Amino acid sequence: MKKISIIIPAYNEEESLPFLYDKLNELMDHMEQYEFEILFVNDGSKDKTIELIKEYREKDSRYCYIDFARNFGKEIAMIAGLDYATGDCAIFIDADLQDPPGLIPELVKYWEEGYDDVYAKRRSREGETFLKKFTSKMYYIVLQKMTKIEIQKDTGDFRLLDRRCINALKKLRESQRNTKSMFSWIGYKKKEVLYDRDARVAGKTKWNYMKLIDLAIDGITSFTTSPLKLATWLAIPTFMMLFIYSIYVIAKCIIIHTFIQAFQAIILLILFFSGIQILLFGIIGEYLGRIFVETKNRPLYLVNEYNGEREMNS
Ligand code: UDP
Ligand code: MG
Repeated sequence: MKKISIIIPAYNEEESLPFLYDKLNELMDHMEQYEFEILFVNDGSKDKTIELIKEYREKDSRYCYIDFARNFGKEIAMIAGLDYATGDCAIFIDADLQDPPGLIPELVKYWEEGYDDVYAKRRSREGETFLKKFTSKMYYIVLQKMTKIEIQKDTGDFRLLDRRCINALKKLRESQRNTKSMFSWIGYKKKEVLYDRDARVAGKTKWNYMKLIDLAIDGITSFTTSPLKLATWLAIPTFMMLFIYSIYVIAKCIIIHTFIQAFQAIILLILFFSGIQILLFGIIGEYLGRIFVETKNRPLYLVNEYNGEREMNS
């Protein structure tokens, strides 16, 4: 019997958990042909979340949990979940039922068909403000322009991962984690499933705009080092201006037989030295980018098949 681990990061979710619990039990009754492990990661909740989880575990040993020493954030909670998961595949869902457990049978169906990473893509975003939708859309466009890795749009963390993907993700041990970029980075056979994202059942979102901006910057810096190349690109127009302006000044001097004027000399000097400075920043940026990539200590590659056999990369 194949085992499915459902990983649920939970931070102050006492209000949503009872709803989730019912849904999960319903799901497990529905999918009797699988063994289940419901793995909560209690991310330093300050309410009764952990008491509820312990209660569930007493009633049903399929419920497991990791209790963090403090709040480490969802990204860290997710990798902890992968570390502890024992299933043949793992599914991330949010505790607030925004990721409907009802979609899980479909995710599993595609997994059985041989897909390694079945991710749920939002068709609609109920309960989110226009501003959030708009900024999210713009963000994806900008991000995709900056990186060669394909980014999955409107995709959260709601997805099913085969054991191979779990093993791969466990190898990415960087502490500033952006899981979304990692899902893209590992590759493997991906499949998209569409769903309507509901508003959360109870409680409040743990995000605010400050946190989202933080996440956005994280996303950019973890997908790509291209912002560091900005300086190199700025140096080019600066030198172009220097070149054009010096031709203009020299030509003028020759044609109307005057000496170079003080302000012209100053402009030329400013262009020259700022150009050199920007260029030097660019060079430093290039090296910094390489150091940044190196320090992540990622595996160099992940193998899909070896002589026709599925490689688990463990
Ligand atoms: N979460 C967490 N640690 C945090 C913040 C959130 O484990 O520091 C969990 C939270 O309990 C929920 C999931 O991450 O299960 C998504 O959070 P939320 O619903 O607040 O985010 P949103 O759906 O609004 O993006
Ligand atoms: Mg939510």
